[in-house]
Formats: sequence, structure tokens, C-alpha cells
Amino acid sequence: MTEPSDRPRSASLHAEAIGLLLGGACPVMQPGHVWLAGAGPGDRGHLTLHALCGLIQADVIVYDALVDPGVLDLAPAEAVREFAGKRGGRPSIHQADITARLIALARDGLRVLRLKGGDPYVFGRGAEEAFGLVRAGIPFRVIPGLTSGLAGLTAAHIPATVRGVNQAIVLATGHSAEGEGDAIASLDWDALARLGQPIVLYMAVRTLEEIAGRLIAGGMDSATPAAAISQAASATQQVREATLATLAAALRAEPLPTPAIIVIGGIVTLRHQLGSLLQSLERPEHDRLDHALLD
Ligand code: SAH
Repeated sequence: MTEPSDRPRSASLHAEAIGLLLGGACPVMQPGHVWLAGAGPGDRGHLTLHALCGLIQADVIVYDALVDPGVLDLAPAEAVREFAGKRGGRPSIHQADITARLIALARDGLRVLRLKGGDPYVFGRGAEEAFGLVRAGIPFRVIPGLTSGLAGLTAAHIPATVRGVNQAIVLATGHSAEGEGDAIASLDWDALARLGQPIVLYMAVRTLEEIAGRLIAGGMDSATPAAAISQAASATQQVREATLATLAAALRAEPLPTPAIIVIGGIVTLRHQLGSLLQSLERPEHDRLDHALLD
């Protein structure tokens, strides 16, 4: 059997392996095209190879607040980075302005990477951008990303589905705004309560108290396990566990850094079994392969 120390370790092998991976995997990014890509949640290890292909070819990268800064470091220094997202305290950029910007950059003949956190078509308004590009006749490609509501659970040792435990999982938004964007008013929470399947909530920390109240009123057991996963899939990930009835108050008493995913359902308790078994096998966050190769 080959011992790990017998394996060849060199920077050139490393570069060769990456070249091989990307050589066959990279679609060519054309001038005047937009790639609408998901960066996954948390750290840049969750990028897909296609998103990486976009990063290394783009002339301009229009990115969201949820994109890990380490992701942008993967792009060449000369690529222009443009922030287009919402950040606490600052007025947010209007969606229509972002779409207009993407169209203008593409019409200038640039290769445009529109990089969003998670998956671009899951609660990220990516579909609106895509419709805008289609209407403007801009050629574009969409690149899926890992969505925080599923990958974030996995990173916290909460299996999204377990045979015999659940047969479905609901991804919902808790975003509350005036008008038709108001998820709290327009979702049938009684129906979700009756379904008896785990619920994953995006953008729901502020509205959790009201949502929990509606689910309990709809018949969901107030003792149902619930958790918040803060900065999921990053080195600063934290998990707070409580019940459907108590999680909102626990988060108010001791807030967690955003962004955070909320998960409600029996699957939450499985993390104790998995987590304690796995903890002893996990390696420290800084113990990365590239360090080993390049030392
Ligand atoms: N398109 C994104 C979701 C954008 S909506 C995706 O597919 O993941 C923004 C919400 O996503 C946040 O309010 C939070 O609920 C969730 N979110 C995104 N990244 C996260 C992360 N790393 N950890 C926890 N929640 C995250």
C-alpha cells in the first residue's frame, strides 16, 4: 500500500492537475456574453469548475455581497471587480439598475461574469436578470451553484433527507416586504405545517418569530427541533439549536452573524449523532492540500 508520504508532491504536478481539469471543462467565454453564475455558499471551495472558468476568463466581474472575497482573488488582477449587492447600512442597488449594467457591459463587448452567492436561480433574483438579458438579446449562460439551503445543511451535519425520516424538504423564503414580494403574507403556512416535512428558510432571521407563530397555529408541534446556521460552509460557521417555539428568542438574545439559514424539523437532531462521530476525524481548517503541495 502506498503511504501518503510516498505520493509525488510538487507545485508543477498541482498546476498540471488543474490544467487537466479546466482544459476539458472550460467553455470559452465570448466577448459580449454574460455568464450568470452561482459561487456557492461560504468559502471558495464550493465553487464549481464552470464558475472558476468564468473567473479566469472574465473582463469584468459583477458580484454580490454574499460572494466570499476569496473567490474574487481567483480572478486575474486585471479583471475589473464591480460590487452590486446589498450591504447593511448602505442603500441597496436597484435590481433594474444591475440588469441594465450587465446589458451595458455586454454591449461594450466585454466578457461579463455575474457572480451571485449560492445558486443564481434560488431566491437570488437571478431569473429576473436572465429575463432582462433575454429581452435585450444578450447571449448568456447560466452556471448552477450549490445553494446555501442544501449545502449549508450538509456543512452543519444536518442531512436534508434521511430514508424513513422525511420524504420531502421545503425551501421557502421568509423575506418580508411590501406588496407581492411578501412571503409571509402570500405563503400558506398552514399547508406547510400540515405537510410535516422539514422546512428550510432563507432570509428569515428577522421574520422567524412570525413564521414560527404561523406554523404553530397551523398545527406544527412547538417542540419541533429548529436550528440557525450562520455563515454556513465557511470557516466561521456557527449553528444555534433550539425549538420552533424558542429559536427566534434565542437569536434575539444572542444574535448570530448573517447570512443565516433556518431549518425546522426532526433532521436537525441528527447532527448530534453525525457531528460527534465525525468531529474526531475532521482536520483543522488551515490544513489545506495546497499548503502540503507547495511547502
Ligand atoms: N442564491 C442564494 C440565496 C440568496 S437569498 C443561495 O442559493 O444560497 C440570501 C439568503 O441566503 C440569506 O438571507 C441566507 O438565508 C441564505 N444564505 C446565503 N449564503 C449563506 C451562507 N453562507 N450561510 C447561511 N445562509 C446563507
